[in-house]
Amino acid sequence: MSKNSHKEISILMENLDYNEFFVHYQPIVDATTYEVQWVEALARWNSPIIGTVSPDKFIPVLEEKLHIIPIGMRILKKACKQLEKWHRNGCTNSGISVNVSFLQLQQHNFAEAVVTTLHELGLKPHNLVLEITESVKLRGNEHALQTLKVLKEMGIRISIDDFGTGYNCLKCLQEFEFTSIKIDRSFVANMENSRCKIIIDSIISLGHRMGVKVIAEGVETVEQCDQLKRMGCDMLQGYYFYWPSSAEELSLFLRNDFINKSMVQQEIY
Ligand code: C2E
Ligand code: MG
Ligand code: MG
Repeated sequence: MSKNSHKEISILMENLDYNEFFVHYQPIVDATTYEVQWVEALARWNSPIIGTVSPDKFIPVLEEKLHIIPIGMRILKKACKQLEKWHRNGCTNSGISVNVSFLQLQQHNFAEAVVTTLHELGLKPHNLVLEITESVKLRGNEHALQTLKVLKEMGIRISIDDFGTGYNCLKCLQEFEFTSIKIDRSFVANMENSRCKIIIDSIISLGHRMGVKVIAEGVETVEQCDQLKRMGCDMLQGYYFYWPSSAEELSLFLRNDFINKSMVQQEIY
């Protein structure tokens, strides 16, 4: 069996300790000012038997075994608690984004659980962004779409993740008014290819014509950053700005960002 194979991960997940999961965070910045808009929470799994496993490998197994429902909620609660702590410590980043599996949206109490979490922590709905990947499965699923509508009406922002890779993703834009679109990092990685550039350009103008913010993920180089800015992309995320890191490590970065901004404000007045 190859290391970290689907079968090996499935076997390990028979006796899963939810405490083996933790969260890393990566900022999403404004393309013009580089101010942190929000921070994405990314699940991490450190198995005591096979060590660190990539989310691309463990998330599908968590979904298969339905563990994603309780674990996804634990991640959301952890991320919201961390945001509340950052707010309390004076960090200016306004929000947190959490990746949500389609299976969580199908739970009858998902919207209620999210709202209760925000309320208990004294956070505002606009502090939270939910990133939805599986746009394919969303199509035609009335319950999941209704859950998203309820959350959006309350002021929670809903972003479509990995845009451009999902079959039927355009149809999804017709069915639900997302607040932002995140261009998949595979397009950003191949930006020197003229066809990729045309795709990115088209997604940006499509998003803007629909009145939604467009985010590019996977920004690794200054060239990609400059080009995306020239193309009118609203927000950027990637190793060029910051790697996904622990809350402690990121706190320093967020704190510095706050200090820099307050210094700029002092100069103005
Ligand atoms: P995603 O939501 O599209 O997250 C962005 C992924 O891109 C993350 O991978 C991040 O580490 C990676 N990334 C960020 N900047 C760069 C860059 O500049 N270059 C490159 N090459 N990669 C970059 P990660 O952490 O491995 O997560 C993979 C996917 O697993 C996520 O993609 C998301 O779909 C899923 N995932 C992660 N956490 C959760 C979770 O809590 N719940 C659910 N349902 N899915 C999650
Ligand atoms: Mg995401
Ligand atoms: Mg993505």
